[in-house]
Amino acid sequence: MKILRILALCILTFCVLSFLNQYFFCPQFTFPRPEPFRGDSILNPYAQIRSEQWVKANFHAHAKAWQGVTNGLGNAAQIHQAYQQLGYGIHCVSNYQSIDSTGSGEPGYIPAYEHGYNIEKTHQLVLGESAVEWLDYLLPQTLYNKQDVLNHLKNPNSVVILNHPALRNGYKESDFASLTGYDCMEVLNPSVISTRHWDAALSAGRRVFVVGDDDLHDIVNRDRLGKMCTFVNIDKPSKEQVLSALKSGRSYGAVLAADQKPGSVPYLEHLWVRGSTVEILLSEKAAQILITGQNGKTIARFKNTEVARFKISKSDHYARATARFENGTELFFNPVFFSDQASQVQPVAHEDFLQTIFYRTLGVAILFSYLTLLGMFLVLKKLPPRSFIPNNTQ
Ligand SMILES: [Zn+2]
Repeated sequence: MKILRILALCILTFCVLSFLNQYFFCPQFTFPRPEPFRGDSILNPYAQIRSEQWVKANFHAHAKAWQGVTNGLGNAAQIHQAYQQLGYGIHCVSNYQSIDSTGSGEPGYIPAYEHGYNIEKTHQLVLGESAVEWLDYLLPQTLYNKQDVLNHLKNPNSVVILNHPALRNGYKESDFASLTGYDCMEVLNPSVISTRHWDAALSAGRRVFVVGDDDLHDIVNRDRLGKMCTFVNIDKPSKEQVLSALKSGRSYGAVLAADQKPGSVPYLEHLWVRGSTVEILLSEKAAQILITGQNGKTIARFKNTEVARFKISKSDHYARATARFENGTELFFNPVFFSDQASQVQPVAHEDFLQTIFYRTLGVAILFSYLTLLGMFLVLKKLPPRSFIPNNTQ
């Protein structure tokens, strides 16, 4: 019974410390106000692309790791081989909190891992890092927790992608009016499609680009293999080129139909902006091309065509296209958006030091109270029971 009691006290203390660390000791931030895209010029991420340079990529796949504790079957070599056979130029293995080095001598190798071990699956994919970041918050995360994690992951030489944001409410739509410091969003994941979350970030004026991934967990049974992917515009498969394409939006996401032949996926020929007119040309006729702007509003819709030509006005703030083909394959393109040429600087969340100190002081007071109660409890337990105290009054 004594061991059980010690174990219960250890678990209780761990829970109290986690709670205090997450909700009282975490830095507090002041977030930049959501500001829709404005300016006199229209920024087009596809201005410099070449249509023969689209390379198919999957950044999110799990092999067996951590002695099988995490969700993943098969090994990294099997994953690389399977994607190679399907014509992918870039294929990462992104185990939880672990960077797999299989194939690190290959030109298209990108070190990758999925960050996060919290209960709501607030996960991030980190590409191009040499070491894993261990800071995370286990319980449902506040905006401050999420921003603190992003600040720890952020590095100019890597790419941070918010994974499957709509899954288990890992990220709320409302979070995207505030959060800063990430590059891309995994809008397309076989578990969940997160276009509303993406539009929330874009509507707040955050330059966030789309990623599609298989989030594969079972290469043995080829579960999810080749369902969703990202196309990046690069002239050779190098880490630097892929990361640069993702950071600047020279990429798009794809959901591939079950009967889609891997070698003949329709692609983007060009996306031009001339004045306020946007022209999109696809390699083949789409059943529908939908143009979406601020807060997910439909700007235009085209049917049975490979060309979409439309005008974008300042009140649209941004315009992104989604093309759906007859067989069900869909392409999700990055937005063109209004921009002020002078201010290319991205908004940043700043730590509110006074508020951080206030919460930490409160946290210390709660911790002190808990330790006092714990100490009193342990002392009382050590005292002999009352009935055994000799009675000297008689
Ligand atoms: Zn995940």
